[in-house]
Amino acid sequence: MGQPHGYLGLKGNENVKVTIVGANFAALAAIDRLRRWDLGRNLQLTVVAPKAEFFYQPSLIWIPTGGRTPEQIHLSLASYFERMGVDFVQARATGAENGGRTLLTTAGKIDNDALLIASGGEYLTKAPGVKQNALIPCHLTDAQRAREFLSRMAGGNLAFGFSGNPDEPTAIRGGPMFEFMFCIENLLRRSGRRKKFTLTFFSPMAEPGKRMGPAAVKGLLTTMEKKGINTHLGHKIKGFTPDGIETEGGRVASDMTLFIPGMTGQPWFAKTGFPLSPGGFLKADAQARVEETQRVYVAGDAGSFPGPEWRAKQAHMAELQACAAADNIFLELNGKPSRKKFRTELICIVDTEKTGIFVSRFERFGLILPPLYLMHQVKRGLEWWSLKKYA
Ligand SMILES: Cc1cc2nc3c(=O)[nH]c(=O)nc-3n(C[C@H](O)[C@H](O)[C@H](O)COP(=O)(O)OP(=O)(O)OC[C@H]3O[C@@H](n4cnc5c(N)ncnc54)[C@H](O)[C@@H]3O)c2cc1C
Repeated sequence: MGQPHGYLGLKGNENVKVTIVGANFAALAAIDRLRRWDLGRNLQLTVVAPKAEFFYQPSLIWIPTGGRTPEQIHLSLASYFERMGVDFVQARATGAENGGRTLLTTAGKIDNDALLIASGGEYLTKAPGVKQNALIPCHLTDAQRAREFLSRMAGGNLAFGFSGNPDEPTAIRGGPMFEFMFCIENLLRRSGRRKKFTLTFFSPMAEPGKRMGPAAVKGLLTTMEKKGINTHLGHKIKGFTPDGIETEGGRVASDMTLFIPGMTGQPWFAKTGFPLSPGGFLKADAQARVEETQRVYVAGDAGSFPGPEWRAKQAHMAELQACAAADNIFLELNGKPSRKKFRTELICIVDTEKTGIFVSRFERFGLILPPLYLMHQVKRGLEWWSLKKYA
């Protein structure tokens, strides 16, 4: 995209205000991209988030095994924001007014000329007993509790599972649960305790991980079989109890249950007046614009985007959507029509802390590789690169 003429045509020479909600993958990718076009630094960028901190969520899979500490996967963004000329407002967005031109926050109202919402999603906790009897390891505190339990347990039953959002099939986070399970299985083997534990993978889906493609499902189920992990698949979950999971197909015994529920939108989205998807996310078009709005965009886990049925909520997609959103914001602020679309891709490495299985899907083809030590190293490398980028 070339530098548009009539620069920042909306307001002449005045500073043009872009507000970004959130400070993680999508938000940071958008900041990078906006500053890439905005060479004269005419955009006044404001970031609203609870903390000026980058949280590398993909490495949460190594918290229960002690492969990572919380400090290793968090990074202060103070230097990065200073370098990028970002005004940071420590607050939470609570709603929007004037078609999005005013963001409501816990620190007051913030006016903007363009708004990007990149505040992520939430997990459904409606299943009976899920809050009391299961750990949702996507939350750092629960991943840490899993670590504590594992360090104390000499043997017992461990259960791992995930489910989706019945109102929105793409609002699911399954891949990381395979990683938590394989990494923990590996830890038990390393520490000589494996034989004293029974591991069970459960899911209401008969083919868990289907979005990664049929070869991936087969590969994952074969890997579980080889590692002696039981499966309990295709049975609706009725509830979680202190000693297991009740399903319509029977009970799974468990002393520690790790579970990733389906995802949903954040409650404050309902106070923006913007259209929401059936699952409660901000409804976006192919250019990452929130439907029926002007200069309001969404990127990452916060949005519901068009695309193939296998599309996933991933950091990689969050960045692609954020780049398209930033390009379109820049075009629109220069009085041009937004025209940039994002590609839909699924790329992941299912890690076991020893090897990694590379899985990818694109519009025209997909590729899956057998477990490789190299892929584990690549996964570590991606973490290093991301944390270095925003240091
Ligand atoms: C265990 C695990 C493993 C994963 N592994 C991978 C992987 O291998 N590869 C991959 O591509 N993806 C992976 N993901 C998914 C990836 O982490 C998410 O898709 C990604 O974090 C989404 O980025 P985001 O910027 O949209 O949202 P988030 O990363 O959730 O960031 C949201 C930001 O908004 C802020 N915020 C929240 N609420 C508010 C509010 N009300 N107001 C203002 N700010 C707010 C938050 O503090 C945060 O800064 C994994 C996720 C998990 C949990």
